[in-house]
Formats: sequence, C-alpha cells, structure tokens
Amino acid sequence: MKILIVEDELEIAEIIQECLEAEGFSCDVCHDGQSAIQLFAEQQPDLIILDIRLPGMDGLEVCTQIRQKSVANDPYILMLTSRGEEIDRIIGLSTGADDYYIKPFSPRELVARVRALLRRRLRSSGDRSGTIRTKSFTIDLEQHCVTRHLDADSAEELDLSSSEFKLMTLLVKHPGRVWERGQLIEKLWGDDFFGEERVIDTHIARLRKKVEPSTSKPKFIQTVVGVGYKFEDL
Ligand code: CA
Repeated sequence: MKILIVEDELEIAEIIQECLEAEGFSCDVCHDGQSAIQLFAEQQPDLIILDIRLPGMDGLEVCTQIRQKSVANDPYILMLTSRGEEIDRIIGLSTGADDYYIKPFSPRELVARVRALLRRRLRSSGDRSGTIRTKSFTIDLEQHCVTRHLDADSAEELDLSSSEFKLMTLLVKHPGRVWERGQLIEKLWGDDFFGEERVIDTHIARLRKKVEPSTSKPKFIQTVVGVGYKFEDL
C-alpha cells in the first residue's frame, strides 16, 4: 500500500512518515501542492494524506484536481486541518475528501484512520453479481457501471468512483427508504469507518453532480430534512 504525504511543516511530515513506515506502509513525502499533483500521477498512491494549508496551491485545490484526474485509480484522501471549523468548508465545497483529521493528532489514531480507509478499498472489490434496474438507471454489479436512461432510445454511462458506485447501489437497492447518515456509513464501511459522520454529505454531493439533471433540485437522491437521504425514481 502506497501513501503520499503532503505537508509543508517538515517536522509534522516526518512524524507522519515515521509512524506509517513503522507500520509497514511505503510513503512518499512532498511539501507543496504542485509536487503533490506530480507525485500522484507518477506514483499512483492508494491514499493521500493532504494538509489543507500549503504554500501556493492549497490542499482543497489539490484534492479537487486529483478527483478530476483520477478515474481508474481513485485514491482515498485524508485531509489534515488545524481548525475544526474548516471541516464545514471542506464539506461545503464537496472536494471529495474521504476523511478529515484535526491537528494536533496522535500518531496512533492517524495510523488507525489510515488502516480503516485502506480496508474500505479492499472490501469494495467484493460483492459483485447481477443487475439492478429502475426506471432511470441500470446498475451492472459485475462491470461496476451505472447507466442513466435519458429516454426510450438513449442512455449514458456514468463515470463514478468506487465509493460513489457503492453509495449509488445501496440507495437504488432500497427505493423510498430513508437513510440516516450513520446507517449509510454502517452499510458502506461498517466497522472500518472511523471519522466524521458528515463525510457522507460530501459523497452525496459528488454523486448528485453525476446522476442528477439538476443538483439544485435533486430528483433521485433526495434530502430528508432532519434525517438524511432517500432514493426515488418515480
Ligand atoms: Ca500547513
């Protein structure tokens, strides 16, 4: 498992590197956003630990760019922030981070989160067979692809990441069911989840961008105020 560490504070970068390498992970380290983009392309890491505040291009921009590039290789992104209130900003921008961590951190907890994220990836490769159809969508569980039917004669294949695919499949399997955030997390990642529950909002926002004709008025993935989300395809 390869991890890319992006952190401009050299001492912190070194601590992270040491504690992950001690656990057997292979790490690359860089200290600014441009190098992060370049190393991502060269090394194809499984997971990126990304500080938000970087000189030049900040962590949010790096995250957005990586999400735009990666389709085949969709790394997990764990963002580091020194202030809890920044988490709302990250979620609001729906940059596609998988987890957030507020500094100062304990090396042991950071390693636990990294392990939890990487286990999600291993698990996501299982559970494949058959096809699910609704009025507007076909999900091929074997090919891992989702098609949206535009009208009787035309359809388009949606370009979903592996976590978006899992979320979409779960929602579509249970039309009309209202899910709380915690229930979605439990179903998607089980005990491997270790982080902020609101992270699910980011995944929903990214998924809506790809499946909804209009994200300002979601037709399929609806918000249930005070509870969570549901999928409808009427
Ligand atoms: Ca920093």
